[in-house]
Amino acid sequence: MEKMEITVYGAHWCPDCRNSKQFLGEHQIPYQWVDIEEDKEAEQFVLQKNNGKRIIPTIAFSDGSFLVEPSNAELAAKLGLKTEASRHHYELIVLGGGPAGLTAALYTGREAIDTLVIERAAFGGQAAVTAKLDNMPGFPEGVSGSEFSQRLRRQAERFGVELLHAQEVTEVYSRHNYRCVKTADGSLYSAQALLIATGSHYKRLNVPGENEYMGAGVHFCATCDGPFYKGKRVAVIGGGNSAAQESLLLTKFADSVTILVRGGRFKATQIIQDNVFGNPKIDVLWHTEVKEFIGENSKLTKLRILNNQTGKEDEFPVNGVFIFIGLEPNTKFLKNSGILLDRWGFIITGRELLNRGIRPPEFKDRDPFLLETSVPGIFAAGEVRDTSTKQVVSAAGEGSSAALMIREYLKHA
Ligand SMILES: Cc1cc2nc3c(=O)[nH]c(=O)nc-3n(C[C@H](O)[C@H](O)[C@H](O)COP(=O)(O)OP(=O)(O)OC[C@H]3O[C@@H](n4cnc5c(N)ncnc54)[C@H](O)[C@@H]3O)c2cc1C
Repeated sequence: MEKMEITVYGAHWCPDCRNSKQFLGEHQIPYQWVDIEEDKEAEQFVLQKNNGKRIIPTIAFSDGSFLVEPSNAELAAKLGLKTEASRHHYELIVLGGGPAGLTAALYTGREAIDTLVIERAAFGGQAAVTAKLDNMPGFPEGVSGSEFSQRLRRQAERFGVELLHAQEVTEVYSRHNYRCVKTADGSLYSAQALLIATGSHYKRLNVPGENEYMGAGVHFCATCDGPFYKGKRVAVIGGGNSAAQESLLLTKFADSVTILVRGGRFKATQIIQDNVFGNPKIDVLWHTEVKEFIGENSKLTKLRILNNQTGKEDEFPVNGVFIFIGLEPNTKFLKNSGILLDRWGFIITGRELLNRGIRPPEFKDRDPFLLETSVPGIFAAGEVRDTSTKQVVSAAGEGSSAALMIREYLKHA
C-alpha cells in the first residue's frame, strides 16, 4: 500500500475535491493533484472513466482502480486504513495519536497493558505536520516531524498497541466502573481507564469568506499546503512563534511572504524573529487585521484588511493565506463526560483541581493523580491539558508520566 501512487483529478473550486485532498493530507499520503480545467488530457481521462460525465474528484490508483466522489470511509477502506477496532473492551483507550498519546501507548503497551489508540486523522498529531523539529533532544541535526511521527508510531506498534485510524471520538462518558467512548461511525468502546491526548488546533478568524475559501486559498498548515504556492504571493496571519516559523518555511516555495500582525510587535522568540527580519522574501504589516477573504471562481484572490491604528481599510492581493493565531483545545466531545475544563476548554488535572478548591466527590479517599481529570480513571496529557507547555518533548513526557500513573490506577481498578 505504501508504494501506491494516487492521482486526484479535480478542479480548484470543487469542495469534494478539497475534502479528499484534506483527507489524504491529514493521513500524509502522497498524491498528485491534476486540475482538469488546465489539462485537457486529464479531463478526457475523467470523462472516459465516468461514461462521458465530468464527475470530480475522480481518484486514480496505480493498481488501475479508481474512485469517484468517494466518502472518507471509502477512501480509508481503499487505502487499507483500519477504522474499526478488533474488540470493544480494553484496559486502556488513548484518545489521540499525537506525541502525548503515542508515547503513553508505547509505555503501557510495553507494560503489557492492553491498549487501543483512537486517532481521527494521521498519527503524529501536530508534530507530524511540522517541517522540522529542531529542539528534539538526541537529534543534533533536527528531525522532520513526519519522520519523528512514523518512528513513534512504529515504536508503539512494536509493543503490541492497537492503532485505529480515521475515526473520530464524539463522546466520552462513564457507566458504572467503565469509561466509555463513542466514535463517529457509532461504535462504542469501553475501558478501565482513558487517556485524553487530543491536543489542540489553530483558531480561526471567523470572518466572511474564511470557510468558503478553506483549502482554496485559506490554510492552516504550511508543510501540507505550502508547496501549492511555488512562485506565488502568500500572507501569514499571526505574530507568535508558529506564524514566524511557518513564514520562514513558506519562503521555500512562495516568491513573497507578508506577515500580517494585529499588534505592533512579534511574540515569537528572538532567534526566530532574527531569522524573519533577515529573510529578504518576508515583509511585515503591523497593526493589521483581516476583515474578509475575497475570491473569484471559488478561489481566494485578495484580503480586505484594516489598519487598526489609522482605521484605513485596503485590499491586499494574495494567492494564499496561512492562519496561525493561537490554539483551541480539542475537547468539544467531552460535553457529557463530567470532566472539568478551564475557561478556554483545556482539561484541568491533578493538583490544579485541588488548588482551585475543586475536590470532586469521587475523590473522597484519595487525591487525584497529577495527570488525572475530575473523573477518576480518566487521565489527560499534552496540549489538551491546561498549564501544559505546548512542546513535543513535554507532550511526550506527559504521555509517559500519565502511563505510569495509569499503571498505578489499574492495580486497583
Ligand atoms: C506548525 C507547528 C510547528 C510546531 N513546531 C514545534 C517545534 O519545532 N518543536 C516543538 O517542540 N513543538 C512544536 N510544535 C508543537 C507540537 O507539535 C505540539 O506541542 C505537540 O504535537 C502536542 O502533542 P499532543 O500529543 O499533545 O497533541 P497533538 O499533536 O495536537 O495530537 C493530538 C492528536 O489527537 C487527535 N484528535 C483530536 N481530536 C480527536 C478526536 N475527537 N478523536 C480522535 N482523535 C482526535 C488529533 O488528530 C491529533 O493527531 C509545533 C506545532 C505546530 C502546529
